[in-house]
Amino acid sequence: MTARETIALIAHDEKKDDMAEFARLHRQALSNYDLVATGTTGGRIMEAVPSLNVIRMKSGPLGGDQQIGALIAEGKVSMLIFFTDPLTPMPHDVDVKALTRLATVYDIPMALNRATAENADRA
Ligand code: PGA
Repeated sequence: MTARETIALIAHDEKKDDMAEFARLHRQALSNYDLVATGTTGGRIMEAVPSLNVIRMKSGPLGGDQQIGALIAEGKVSMLIFFTDPLTPMPHDVDVKALTRLATVYDIPMALNRATAENADRA
């Protein structure tokens, strides 16, 4: 049996409705992966699609982004879907930058907005 690949999901507050909708629309595809998310995002996804089992890290501002970054560094994440909010200043801005940096360092697919995530299968 081969291990399932893991997708990491994160959405900033203004983008959480988008993430819930994205999870609803793509629940079939997402069900083929192990899912890991920051705390609040993971809760919203499971609320939207109760059949999806999401492993929840800490909330982003409390270290969740860094936990997901560590998983990427360990080679345990195959794709990052991160709906960022570029219009709101955030206390954990440095963590956001560190996470996207690691996704680039380890060359995993990274969707930073819904349009890219929706078109991931075209890549
Ligand atoms: P959250 O974290 O899912 O716990 O809100 C996301 C973030 O804001 O980085």
